Amino acid sequence: MTVRTRVAPSPTGDPHVGTAYIALFNRVFAHQQGGQFILRIEDTDQVRSTAESEAMILDSLRWLGLTWDEGPDVGGPYGPYRQSERSAIYREYADQLVAVGHAFRCYRTPQELDQLRQQKTESGNQTALKPSELKLPEDEVKRREAAGAPFVIRMMVPEEGKCPIEDMLRGTVELDWAQVDAQVLLKSDGLPTYHLANVVDDHLMKITHVLRGEEWLNSAPKHKLLYQYFGWEMPKLCHMPLLRNPDKSKLSKRKNPTSINYYRRMGFLPEALVNYLGRMGWSMPDEREKFTVAEMQEHFDLQRVSLGGPVFDITKLSWLNGVWIRDSLTVEQLAQRFREWAFNEDYLMQILPQIQKRLEVLSDVVKLADFFVAGQVEVHMDAFSACKIEPVQVRKVLQYSIWRFEAQRHWNKDAIGENLTSLAAAMGIKMKDFMLPLFIAVSGRQTAPSIMDAMAIIGSDLTRARLRHALDLLGGPSKKEVKEWEKEFRSFDQKNDEENS
Ligand code: GLU
Repeated sequence: MTVRTRVAPSPTGDPHVGTAYIALFNRVFAHQQGGQFILRIEDTDQVRSTAESEAMILDSLRWLGLTWDEGPDVGGPYGPYRQSERSAIYREYADQLVAVGHAFRCYRTPQELDQLRQQKTESGNQTALKPSELKLPEDEVKRREAAGAPFVIRMMVPEEGKCPIEDMLRGTVELDWAQVDAQVLLKSDGLPTYHLANVVDDHLMKITHVLRGEEWLNSAPKHKLLYQYFGWEMPKLCHMPLLRNPDKSKLSKRKNPTSINYYRRMGFLPEALVNYLGRMGWSMPDEREKFTVAEMQEHFDLQRVSLGGPVFDITKLSWLNGVWIRDSLTVEQLAQRFREWAFNEDYLMQILPQIQKRLEVLSDVVKLADFFVAGQVEVHMDAFSACKIEPVQVRKVLQYSIWRFEAQRHWNKDAIGENLTSLAAAMGIKMKDFMLPLFIAVSGRQTAPSIMDAMAIIGSDLTRARLRHALDLLGGPSKKEVKEWEKEFRSFDQKNDEENS
């Protein structure tokens, strides 16, 4: 048997360090056994998936050296490797299940579904929605069908009992069927959900081992059942421990930068970042901390993965990065890294137009352009006393801008400008007053060249990191504030939608 593994990211945002972590373990596991590692793009969520996000994921995995043997860009015998190009395949398999009674067309309206769920909550019954509750009488189905009502295809699931799942790290885990709903397989737009597409593709792409994040363990019963319905052999499952923040909560961008772009822009070396990811839940037999992917592959043993939540700690990562810089690069190589990172013609051509007018002698460049090159900048609390708006508004400006930027697809000066102008208007703050906190946070000073240009040049990840840093300095929102702020923030967009509709 040829071992075949895959990483299957959904291109719905920044390239996540968790994706690189899962890719690394899948790649090492497959290659150690002479197998293949595949990259598949799971873009069935048409609203949230973007081509930009896909391109960034591919680019950052390549930067880390986590290349794949088959994938949307390199092709392979089991393509296409992008789910949006495979919709006809999923429809056919969903129809097959309907034909033999393992799935059914569900004509329930969103209102009816809400009602059903509400009834369950009121009766204190926490179980999932089952086919028996969802199915309509035959004549009602016929009536809705004849009226051309929209429908989804849902899978049949047992009402109760236990579902044993074999996990390579956990042994047998028993999950409760009562918690498993009649999962939608095909949405009303004819596109599959993750569950159907994932199972069909893993089978057709001959995946033998699925190493994925532990958040998917609860989905395993549905997948197991689908394999049984189709009469296919299920790949072996291995749910990897989730990466955690130092406080042990699930790694999230609220507490730590999670985008690979951030680490790249900060000047971490790709080999140090992958090395650190290899230390997440795994260790070398001799416990050495510094190793290459090739060394990891040579000594890899899945059974050495420990289930205690591995902490992704930037201080530790920075230390390891320093070790790589000191011990593994010649000065010539270090110079080359600097050139690739920021000391190159391309970057200089972006920065110089911003400062040329203020230069008297060339050496002024250091003090005028430091914040274009730095990772974080030094910000002092006192600087914010120049702000004309209330302190709470200053904090909101920072937080709301971060939220806006997280959702911003195209990162350029015009798009940033439009985004911030509409946010300032929604908050009822004059543009000049609105910009000052951002200005201080991004540049660490009160006068500097155009801050919109600066944000465009340093990129979304560093911009957000600096805003977050300033917000932390001023006091990040309390739990109560987060709730209130989120509500207010969402209301801006709703107003926007109403005005545009
Ligand atoms: N598309 C899923 C994700 O984004 C893949 C989960 C899996 O590996 O099955 O994580």
